[in-house]
Amino acid sequence: MMHYDHILVRYGELALKGKNRTEFENKLKRNIQYAIQDFSTAKVKKTYGRMMIELNNENPEKVMEPLKHVFGLSSFSLAMKSPNEIEQIKETALQAFLQHDGKKRTFKINARRAFKPFPISSQEANQIIGGHILSNTEDVTVDVHHPDIEVNVEIREQGTYVTCGRVEGSGGLPVGTAGKVMLMLSGGIDSPVAGYLAMKRGAEIEAVHFHSPPYTNERARKKVEDLTEMLTTFGGPVTLHVVPFTELQKAIHANIHSNYAMTIMRRMMLRITEQIAENQNIKALANGESLGQVASQTLESMHTINEVTNLPILRPLVTMDKQEVIEISEKIGTYPISILPYEDCCTIFLPTNSVTKPRRDKASRFEEAFEFQSYVEEAVANTETITFGSGQQKTNQDMDDLL
Ligand code: ATP
Ligand code: MG
Repeated sequence: MMHYDHILVRYGELALKGKNRTEFENKLKRNIQYAIQDFSTAKVKKTYGRMMIELNNENPEKVMEPLKHVFGLSSFSLAMKSPNEIEQIKETALQAFLQHDGKKRTFKINARRAFKPFPISSQEANQIIGGHILSNTEDVTVDVHHPDIEVNVEIREQGTYVTCGRVEGSGGLPVGTAGKVMLMLSGGIDSPVAGYLAMKRGAEIEAVHFHSPPYTNERARKKVEDLTEMLTTFGGPVTLHVVPFTELQKAIHANIHSNYAMTIMRRMMLRITEQIAENQNIKALANGESLGQVASQTLESMHTINEVTNLPILRPLVTMDKQEVIEISEKIGTYPISILPYEDCCTIFLPTNSVTKPRRDKASRFEEAFEFQSYVEEAVANTETITFGSGQQKTNQDMDDLL
């Protein structure tokens, strides 16, 4: 008995040309391999603007699950492979049809003869295969306009692939094709979503988290580690940099007028993040800010905080409402972790009387009150680095080397 033995993977964004296209395909292949690493006998192959996963007896439904999270993939379908021989193609199409689960009272055959030496035209193949399905089923009819299911038959040089229906992929660009960004990751709802969206457009991420023990506890840190782990689902290993922020927070508390404390704290976070990014040769940052959401997210505030770096800062959520962000965080699975109640470093020392329109000149003047540079350097020097999602598995670099 024949079974689905392949998954055909389609990808979009093919305005991509030349060298870009090769990079796109290599990264996509690498990311698919990473996503399905638990299925050790499955193999990913590049073919004519598609990827083909040879299942080699792995469970098709299970292998499809992680594919839903791979960016750059527009859709995918289970496929059955047949030799280029019409009797066998016909039978394969019938089996693919019968084993497809989903509504299929009406169908349509889409045969495509990409391999021209094959002696039967696409049109004739449609009729022969359609006839074979009709005479082996009951209560099934052809509907060329609005079929429940399309049976695609691709006749290629190395064999014929039959697919029924398709599963939507997540779209976007393969992680790694847009370079790397340093994500500022709190334990909140927003920043993991910001990371996810940056990854969706092809950015690989590292994350930086500020914690202030003993004012923030181990569980708050564990929460951020769990969020980081979760983000690996969408594009491979993620390195987390955990910055000890207590001393700097105390110094701010002691030296800065309370209504500028938050602005100064943000500027310090940004200085440290920039330093860590530069050490990792990363040229852009990302955060979870949304315009007007809180005092630190007004335009004036962004203007003043942003002064300390000239690295680009991606703000994928900048125009989103909280509800939209929550919906994404539920969809990607970070929400239940984000709402765990442990205190974040920012909430502890901070007053409630922060100015909503902090000024650059005032912020700079306040900062003259203490030798902050040594605190910044100390924090960078004592940062702990942990990589998630690389377990027994290879890092992205190893995967690149394999290709
Ligand atoms: P989030 O839900 O991401 O915490 P938020 O709406 O609570 O965002 P803020 O707390 O003002 O907003 O933080 C704005 C952004 O600053 C966050 O999205 C995150 O990118 C960054 N940030 C805040 N706290 C930390 C932290 N402890 N470590 C790293 N980045 C942080
Ligand atoms: Mg927060």
